[in-house]
Amino acid sequence: MAIERTFSILKPDVTRRNLTGAVNALIEKAGLRIIAQKRVLITKGQAETFYAVHRERPFFGELVESMISGPVVVQVLEGEGAIQKYREVLGATDPSKADPGTIRKEFALSIGENSAHGSDAPETATIEIAQWFSGNELVG
Ligand code: UDP
Ligand code: MG
Repeated sequence: MAIERTFSILKPDVTRRNLTGAVNALIEKAGLRIIAQKRVLITKGQAETFYAVHRERPFFGELVESMISGPVVVQVLEGEGAIQKYREVLGATDPSKADPGTIRKEFALSIGENSAHGSDAPETATIEIAQWFSGNELVG
């Protein structure tokens, strides 16, 4: 399998509870390399753009509010099959359905505050990385 890059966000429920390092430990244990990382406060507009695909869903407003409720950590992860692998490390969107040992099973508070985001396909990974990082910030 090819070396890929995927985009990750550690959500405000993680930074609020001082769990950035604990989540990063699971990422690194899975063989994914954090090749870029920064802690940022995102604006409402940025959150709405980022999750625009969900604009019509009933949870959209709550999702945006939760993403701007505190700092997030945006990251680029690199590794063999990184996009699919990180989705596995994340676990199911609903933490009650996530496998043991996954980020969401171990840390998520609810389906909304589910600790982390990971790109779902190569196309979205490319778009999401470009939204948050310039080329010089990726140090593979
Ligand atoms: N979400 C929610 N309620 C739902 C489904 C999703 O609050 O019923 C939130 C949750 O934070 C999730 C995000 O919206 O991570 C994006 O949803 P998606 O279906 O893309 O899940 P993901 O790709 O993050 O697993
Ligand atoms: Mg998604």
